[in-house]
Amino acid sequence: MPSIRRLAVIGAGTMGHGIAQVAAMAGHRVTLFDVDFVAAETGLQRIRKNLDKGVQLGKVSDATRETTLAALRTSTELADAVVEADLVIEAAPESMELKRSIFADVEARVDPEAILASNTSSLSIATLASGLRHPSRLLGLHFFNPVHLMTLVEVVHGPQTDPEVLEAAVKFVERLDREPIVVKDSPGFASSRLGVVLGLEAMRMVEEGVASPQDIDRAMELGYRHPMGPLKLTDLVGLDVRLGIARYLYETLGSEAFRPPEILERMVAEGHTGKKSGRGFYDWGEG
Ligand code: NAD
Repeated sequence: MPSIRRLAVIGAGTMGHGIAQVAAMAGHRVTLFDVDFVAAETGLQRIRKNLDKGVQLGKVSDATRETTLAALRTSTELADAVVEADLVIEAAPESMELKRSIFADVEARVDPEAILASNTSSLSIATLASGLRHPSRLLGLHFFNPVHLMTLVEVVHGPQTDPEVLEAAVKFVERLDREPIVVKDSPGFASSRLGVVLGLEAMRMVEEGVASPQDIDRAMELGYRHPMGPLKLTDLVGLDVRLGIARYLYETLGSEAFRPPEILERMVAEGHTGKKSGRGFYDWGEG
């Protein structure tokens, strides 16, 4: 399997710009693609801002800032973005239909040896790969937000993923100075399946009046050394996002543990989606 030197990242939003940044910092040449020109340029600006902050804090050297920016470019032309890529990481919105159509378009333009990866948080890798001519080259690379600060990457292999592709992907993640965990393609992978169940149970405890959201969070922070309690984390992720994942896991795994609590359904319906809306289990004020 050829070594991974050139990357294309598809989608320059929250995750795409972060993935492009850490890959460029590790010495890869990266093209950040988006259908939207403004989104692509905004992605690059966000990388610049992250690097500037890193320099200010003494965590990134001036030289790394310069070489990282020099290794990056943006594109709104898919063929141009992927033509030379050894690895294409898709970070477009969480829609099976959209991602499958992106992979079909990418496969028609990319080198036959290139590896294709999705940053999906929950969708089946087997289904994503099923429309491809070479489904064995696709796998999941699930980064965490914010990518430049979070070290975990779930490397998700589908039933058809070639073991050499998996091995190359694990090595790639290690080169980014991230911690890979290898997970079989199954609903919620390892992280969301465990993280969501804790969050949902905490919500049921709020419904039952067991304790306040603050005290439930403190139980996990102080008693179990979690850096952040499950309800505050839900506010940061977004209640709507968590509800979407809970519904999907309830449907696919069939366990009562994933049935969305009434309080979650209600808060989302009322527009209380967490930090981004100003209110969730906590009051975040304006903005
Ligand atoms: P986002 O909405 O911030 O960014 C998505 C980007 O994709 C946008 O810039 C949009 O213009 C672009 N886009 C839309 N259609 C496109 C297309 N056809 N081709 C190329 N680009 C297209 O989304 P995000 O939060 O970065 O999420 C991206 C993926 O990462 C999703 O699958 C999500 O589930 C997953 N994920 C998100 C997080 C998170 O915390 N946000 C964490 C882990 C994984």
